[in-house]
Amino acid sequence: MNQIEIPEVESFEELDLSPVMRRSLAKAGFEKPSPIQSQLIPLAMDGLDVIGQARTGTGKTAAFSIPILEQLDSLEDCRDPQAIVVVPTRELADQVGREAERLAWGYPTEIAVLAGGKNITRQLRQLNNGVQVVVGTPGRLHDHLQRRSLRTDNVWCVVLDEADRMLDIGFRPQIERILRKCPRKRQTLLLSATLPTSVQRLAESYM
Ligand code: AMP
Repeated sequence: MNQIEIPEVESFEELDLSPVMRRSLAKAGFEKPSPIQSQLIPLAMDGLDVIGQARTGTGKTAAFSIPILEQLDSLEDCRDPQAIVVVPTRELADQVGREAERLAWGYPTEIAVLAGGKNITRQLRQLNNGVQVVVGTPGRLHDHLQRRSLRTDNVWCVVLDEADRMLDIGFRPQIERILRKCPRKRQTLLLSATLPTSVQRLAESYM
């Protein structure tokens, strides 16, 4: 595992983003990248696996959403999920889904939130109609894998958001199952407020 210091950039212009994304960011009122965004986005756009140490409120959601949205194939080209974002709670799943929708303004993008406690029939219909990005909690994602309603053959990016919290809750088996189901040749982005041994072990095994 290499630890590299990345210089922070001062503006979104320096991040080489598409004009559509630049407009989305302006519309969202984002004037300059936060530190996690300026450091994670260039590495993620280069296809690298990245561990980002960041707490809630640092702009971490946009840090992983921007590179995913910038690199998605259109729904016409691929009807199966291309990116899976795994988060610890239903509330965070909704929040990440909303933020990704907001940043996807200007692109036609299908984003499905697959959280536990929500109507599964609606989720099944959504998956069947075609989605590009899935945001979900480990238990419900695992459930969809077992039902074979969540296809992973075309996934090129997996995000583990708040990895330390997910491991604390005891989601390691479900997370491992999701990671093992996704193609080996993929990108993995791990976000965590803290980097205890459990998170480092997960990263060493799957990144
Ligand atoms: P997060 O850490 O992803 O939960 O983001 C915290 C809040 O900061 C959210 O409301 C974001 O919409 C907002 N945010 C993220 N990035 C930026 C930015 N570059 N400039 C201003 N606000 C931002």
